[in-house]
Amino acid sequence: MASSVLFSVLLLLFNNSAYAQWHNLAEDIMGTRVSVELWHKDQLQADQAMAAVMAVMHQVNASMSPYLESSELYQLNAHAAQTPVVVSADLFSLLQKSLYYSKISDGKFDISFASVGRFYNYRKSLAPSERERLDNLPAINYRQIQLNSAQSSVRFLHPQLKIDLGGIAKGYAVDRAIALLEQRGIASAIVSAGGDSRILGDRRGTPWVMGIRHPRKAEQYAVRIPLINSAISTSGDYERFFIKDEQRVHHIINPATGKSVSSVQSVSILAPLAVDSDALSTTVFVLGIEQGLALVNNMPGIDAIIIAADGRLHYSDELLRAQP
Ligand code: ADP
Ligand code: MG
Repeated sequence: MASSVLFSVLLLLFNNSAYAQWHNLAEDIMGTRVSVELWHKDQLQADQAMAAVMAVMHQVNASMSPYLESSELYQLNAHAAQTPVVVSADLFSLLQKSLYYSKISDGKFDISFASVGRFYNYRKSLAPSERERLDNLPAINYRQIQLNSAQSSVRFLHPQLKIDLGGIAKGYAVDRAIALLEQRGIASAIVSAGGDSRILGDRRGTPWVMGIRHPRKAEQYAVRIPLINSAISTSGDYERFFIKDEQRVHHIINPATGKSVSSVQSVSILAPLAVDSDALSTTVFVLGIEQGLALVNNMPGIDAIIIAADGRLHYSDELLRAQP
């Protein structure tokens, strides 16, 4: 009897396709933790799908990193102020999307924040000098980024203008990864890149329960939210920051001043796509509670959970209606 049980256990272990299970993999890419978890009946196919997810993340980083000299983005920053630079269709459409978020937020989301933003070094607790900030502030203005769709080219209309896709590229990469999993017939998965996650399907009959971190108590959650087939992104002032003159200096920059924004502690956005939740979490962070909620309440299918400077929670209208 005991030996026949042992035999069937061994049979299960050796015949991978005999039972489905969760598989997961995590790696550090794009300066953040990238992870994937998926349900699959076959170990080999699961491993291949997870490797494909990591490959697409590396690919996005290779094209959009502001630090790698070989990246398209680096080349744009090096040359687009002198001459139009032709870019890949993928980068071009992400730039279009970035400018769309600039337009609907009256410039609160602005990838040219990097004209001043590049002088911050959070690991070394360095902020731009007043001189650096004021000299480069006029370069921040998304209207000075000229896109030519016929040529797929980009031109910067200010000599000091630099861009950075840190507020949108991770969400974009997460969507690419989910598309890849869908193509492979996978129905239940979650892909995360730092604060940007997207859930495909459900957790085998139950929703995924996503925790929104408490902005001031590490390892604690402020809210838990059940999700199916949705993206969720959180922007927080606790991700990259240092304290200078009793002020928290962090990585979300007000394009009007070149300084970090202090109106809220964290913004989480729910949206069908991670590229949108990512861009909007940064956008709403800069907009603040009132204007941020007004924007989101005008976008069907998109929701926000904001943790204010005093720690209080604010929800968009659809979430308020959904509460029991
Ligand atoms: P993360 O997941 O890295 O915490 P967020 O979605 O919170 O990213 O966005 C913060 C990042 O967005 C910054 O690290 C920076 O690269 C970029 N960023 C900062 N301010 C702005 C802004 N006003 N508009 C667009 N992008 C910004
Ligand atoms: Mg974001």
